[in-house]
Amino acid sequence: MIKDKIEKIKTANISSILRHFIRLKAHQNKYRGLCPFCDNRKETLFVDDHKSIYYCSEDGGGGDAISFVMNFKDITFDESLNLILSLIGNQS
Ligand SMILES: [Zn+2]
Repeated sequence: MIKDKIEKIKTANISSILRHFIRLKAHQNKYRGLCPFCDNRKETLFVDDHKSIYYCSEDGGGGDAISFVMNFKDITFDESLNLILSLIGNQS
């Protein structure tokens, strides 16, 4: 069930998922890093585990872990779900 997959992904920290794709540094109570969707070479991407979102202060984009992986890998929603589940699969 897709709903179950989404629920499982929500139980994981978004930062632990995004770390598979980009470098993140602790920043206050969030994480920040280079935005893979911008060409600015500045750390404008912020990741917030409490809200389970990412956002870029440069391009104004953002979303959840599923949409990040969709955009980053240029894959569909279902492909993104399955990829993330394979990454966090060992976690209970
Ligand atoms: Zn950006």
